[in-house]
Amino acid sequence: MTERTPLIAGNWKMNLGGAKGCELAEAVARAAQAHPNVDVVVAPPSTVIAAIAQISEENGKKLEVAGQNLYPKSDGAFTGEISAPMLLEAGAKWVILGHSERRQYFAESDDFVREKVAASLAAGLRPIACVGETLEEREAGKTLEVVNRQVDAFASLLSEQPGFGVIAYEPVWAIGTGKVATPEQAQEVHAAIRARLRETLGADVAEKTRILYGGSVKASNAAELLACPDIDGALVGGASLDAEGFAKIIQAAG
Ligand code: PEP
Repeated sequence: MTERTPLIAGNWKMNLGGAKGCELAEAVARAAQAHPNVDVVVAPPSTVIAAIAQISEENGKKLEVAGQNLYPKSDGAFTGEISAPMLLEAGAKWVILGHSERRQYFAESDDFVREKVAASLAAGLRPIACVGETLEEREAGKTLEVVNRQVDAFASLLSEQPGFGVIAYEPVWAIGTGKVATPEQAQEVHAAIRARLRETLGADVAEKTRILYGGSVKASNAAELLACPDIDGALVGGASLDAEGFAKIIQAAG
């Protein structure tokens, strides 16, 4: 079985886009250096990507930076948007795509997420592509149907460079709600996603693709989630805004 390096990614959302973000990044960079066997990424607002990439440079480069979104054209008349080459030039190595907040508030479809994953890969930016069911879909017994549909939309793109892209399973009902999926619930879906990758794209892609869990991960529940065989890391929202708590999650992955 392929060893997958654990990955802990912090999604800061629309928070800490200035000096406070840089302070937090300094602390996270130190925590990342202390745990060299864990890959650590933060996704700050675009306004501080370049500054945080610089902080990473000055602190051993163990911390990597992600964008939270991109527009799937490289440049042009798309007011307010940011492209994959621009994120790369600012110092990002990753980008979060298809987050449920983007799907919900900005009506991003599976097809659009696929376009974005394609644009990130074409530029050499590593996608963290998010999938997950709503509470209504879970209660209707549609979790795997929804998650498979979302994964199928972009998965074939990941097969060109197995392991370069990452999938994040984030049940919508667990995001920012304090309601975390049980390790059993999360492992069941992670195993199903890996099985789907194996079935559609082969064992190499399935074994090399890291699948992160996201949804109310915090220092107190990280270890039991990360102990599950198909959970390769975490995408952390609220708890990534606190240096000490996020460092504990990194430690739990190590
Ligand atoms: C997220 O938004 O990606 C997330 C997982 O948020 P939280 O950890 O706050 O639930």
